[in-house]
Amino acid sequence: MNPLLQVSGLTKRYGARIGCADVGFSLWPGEVLAVVGESGSGKSTLLNLLSTRLAADAGTIEYALLGRGLTDMAKLSEAERRWLLRTDWGFVEQNPRDGLRMNVSAGANVGERLMATGARHYGQIRSTAQDWMARVELDPARIDELPAQFSGGMQQRLQIARNLVTKPRLVLMDEPTAGLDVSVQARLLDLLRELVTSFGLAAVIVTHDLAVARLLAHRLLVMKGGRVVETGLTDQVLDDPQHPYTQLLVSSILQV
Ligand code: ADP
Ligand code: MG
Repeated sequence: MNPLLQVSGLTKRYGARIGCADVGFSLWPGEVLAVVGESGSGKSTLLNLLSTRLAADAGTIEYALLGRGLTDMAKLSEAERRWLLRTDWGFVEQNPRDGLRMNVSAGANVGERLMATGARHYGQIRSTAQDWMARVELDPARIDELPAQFSGGMQQRLQIARNLVTKPRLVLMDEPTAGLDVSVQARLLDLLRELVTSFGLAAVIVTHDLAVARLLAHRLLVMKGGRVVETGLTDQVLDDPQHPYTQLLVSSILQV
């Protein structure tokens, strides 16, 4: 089996400041990788590079395109890249308002990505959108309401439905549960875990919260100052951290 995603030497500077430096890893189909580290360690930079929304100074991102095998993302045409981002990849923003279209209905938010995969039948798109609303525990009867009419936690679930409706093979998430009430976070985490498991989704999840990483991720990438300082199986890293920085993170001495 080949990796789904193969990243090497990924580097990004902002002027003299390092965003991320020489980051490399492989992600296997169905594997969930959490990127952890304190604020400013380069987590978002890495995720934005992976999503190709940010151009790297150096390094390569290869993705196993269906039927084509590992392909350098930089070699895709703009149209191919956009199609991939709209169908086979998902991106869940920390703030649902950045990942939803706030001026169209909940149903249109979900249906839009479905149309990108070729769905054309209005009734079918609508019923699939309603199925997905139910799946993320939103009332399907509210399909015609605007996102602003939903609470923050519900908007985040809507964003997740929008991203998963096309059955992507890879989902990138930036702090998907941060910014929500603790009680809402717990339920959302359970839901994410259910969805990731039942669809065999591969995901890269950025989080400063080790409890989130523990619950969702098979493997961890610990970042500090833009570099990977430790990587390994989640339980192994959290129960027996090798790098002094990871030991600090785990012992909660660092305020992350
Ligand atoms: P994290 O998501 O882990 O908090 P970031 O990737 O946002 O970390 O930031 C990594 C480093 O890059 C930090 O030193 C940050 O100040 C810097 N940085 C991030 N984005 C920018 C930007 N647009 N311009 C300049 N510096 C940036
Ligand atoms: Mg960040």
